[in-house]
Amino acid sequence: MTIHTCDALVVSCIDFRFQKYIREWLEKNMENKKYDYVGFAGGVKDLITIVKQLDISVKLHHISEVTLINHEDCGAYGKESTHTRHSQDLKTAKKVIHSLYPDLTVDLYYLHLDGRFEKIK
Ligand SMILES: [Zn+2]
Repeated sequence: MTIHTCDALVVSCIDFRFQKYIREWLEKNMENKKYDYVGFAGGVKDLITIVKQLDISVKLHHISEVTLINHEDCGAYGKESTHTRHSQDLKTAKKVIHSLYPDLTVDLYYLHLDGRFEKIK
């Protein structure tokens, strides 16, 4: 097998309404970077699934960054799809990722229905 590496792992929800926004944002913000890109319903909601994917990206592609994107009005969260809940889940995901891979840079975003990316700190 050939060795191939990339810069980042990008995780978002599968929701079709947001794919155009995500594509445009990635083109602008990851312009000179290569990345693995996965979509799971709920974004980081199922953290075990995210970590499994992350393990593979780290092992195979030696990534140094992770971008996590949850979004407004997420069906996978249903009534729990509040800004507060998404912020909490994104921060928890970052904490868990850092406990496993302390050297990874993890960026968190909340994507609004109008396509606006809000950075979560
Ligand atoms: Zn969603």
